[in-house]
Amino acid sequence: MTDLPVITHWIDGAPFDGSSTRTAPVFNPALGVVARNVRLAGTGDVDTAVASAQAAYPAWRDTSQARRQSVMFSFRELLNARKGELADILTAEHGKVTSDALGEIARGLEVVEFALGMPHLTKGEYSENVSTGVDVYTLRQPLGVVGIISPFNFPAMVPLWFFPIAIAAGNTVVLKPSEKDPSASNWMAALMTEAGLPAGVLNVVHGDKEAVDALLVHPDVQAISFVGSTPIAKYIYETAAHHGKRVQALGGAKNHMLVLPDADLDLAADAAVNAGFGSAGERCMAISVVVAVEPVADELVAKITERLTGLKVGDGMRGCDMGPLITKAHRDKVASYIEVARTDGAEVVVDGRGIEVDGDASGFWLGPTLFDRVTTSSAVYLDEIFGPVLSIVRVGSYTEGLTLINRSRYGNGTAIFTNDGGAARRFQNEVQVGMVGINVPIPVPVAYHSFGGWKDSLFGDAKAYGPAGIAFYTREKAITSRWLDPSHGGINLGFPHNA
Ligand code: NAD
Repeated sequence: MTDLPVITHWIDGAPFDGSSTRTAPVFNPALGVVARNVRLAGTGDVDTAVASAQAAYPAWRDTSQARRQSVMFSFRELLNARKGELADILTAEHGKVTSDALGEIARGLEVVEFALGMPHLTKGEYSENVSTGVDVYTLRQPLGVVGIISPFNFPAMVPLWFFPIAIAAGNTVVLKPSEKDPSASNWMAALMTEAGLPAGVLNVVHGDKEAVDALLVHPDVQAISFVGSTPIAKYIYETAAHHGKRVQALGGAKNHMLVLPDADLDLAADAAVNAGFGSAGERCMAISVVVAVEPVADELVAKITERLTGLKVGDGMRGCDMGPLITKAHRDKVASYIEVARTDGAEVVVDGRGIEVDGDASGFWLGPTLFDRVTTSSAVYLDEIFGPVLSIVRVGSYTEGLTLINRSRYGNGTAIFTNDGGAARRFQNEVQVGMVGINVPIPVPVAYHSFGGWKDSLFGDAKAYGPAGIAFYTREKAITSRWLDPSHGGINLGFPHNA
């Protein structure tokens, strides 16, 4: 184990060992082995990263928009040309299949392309002659050093939701990716350097709670963007806000798909399978509950079951449909819900344990699993399982289904499948969820809209990327200006008003 490669931090434009000697194992989940170790930063290492970002900030903030855009443009070109390398890293450390890894990168590239419009997106407003000879105008300026803390399930896309916008707007960044699949962040930071980014503008520190806590309280960190599970998101929001920072903390999910009796059931079954089992269900926008409005549940369950039998599970490099789970511990936890479902009276229609895989027997496998007649008091329904497990809940009406969705503590994504425009329109108006799909199962908004849920799926008020991302990483300054002319002068202690 000692001769395994060690993944280091990336600080000041170069690999950085740091002083902490703690490490964590990084698995190849398809082989079930530790492939590398990653350094876990101590507070001193985080201080070094923040100091590097703080030192780089004044020059980067004052670098011309044209120069900043040219770096981002080069990064976009390099990333697009070499996305295959990054996809291989994602598959090796996360386990997701190559096509899915490329899809994740494509969605991240969209945000880079959006950030290329930064000069336009941060343009201010100008009002001439608000009072005689007085003009008012607004500027959007960067914040300073910003911290980004990301989860394991999108090791490329989630960092890409944030750092291109933060950097293009003139901020400098300390990124703390998931310690479970850390290599993608180093690869992207090295690519940014190759694209011409000055040292210190993008730093990567690896670590666990110790590194995160150091970022949350650091006086030179102005803002925190976090994505991860709900309990940690809440903790991040409360701690960083308490320390005076801007915070956006995106949390967990339990996404429902409501299927009305008039829906195209083949389309709905395809969508449920794609959205339930893509990336082995390790997506915050995965569909984990299908709410079937009777009388179509029997037919829908049959169609979903038929599709599951055709799914090929195995090593992501081998053209399979679904890869392994991230760790053995996570696989075992997800699999344990099969007995919970049984005990709570659900019907286990497809049991993913012991499935035949195209891959090494030691991989962290669990095949597609389907539960029917799940009760809403069961932990299977209430918990975010985050694996290839789909629950069917049967309801008698649209209203019953809507009430169920609105009662969930989460409000990340949801979808309705119907051919009734009136019903869909009513749903989009009534559902208490931040992202809604109409005959679209994973309604992740494109980069020029913003991404984020409601309720326990997002703490703070700023969504990620799109207009909300621009607002989050900049602050507005309003300037009232008068240039001397012969009419100036005179004492007036009244509050300024039109004259
Ligand atoms: P996680 O909450 O365990 O970890 C996320 C980040 O927080 C990691 O960088 C991790 O190192 C750090 N962290 C973990 N424990 C911590 C602690 N006690 N104190 C401080 N920092 C800590 O999440 P995960 O398992 O990596 O990712 C899966 C979760 O992320 C799921 O709940 C999923 O729904 C959620 N997610 C949400 C979105 C969204 O946009 N809402 C997107 C992707 C993932």
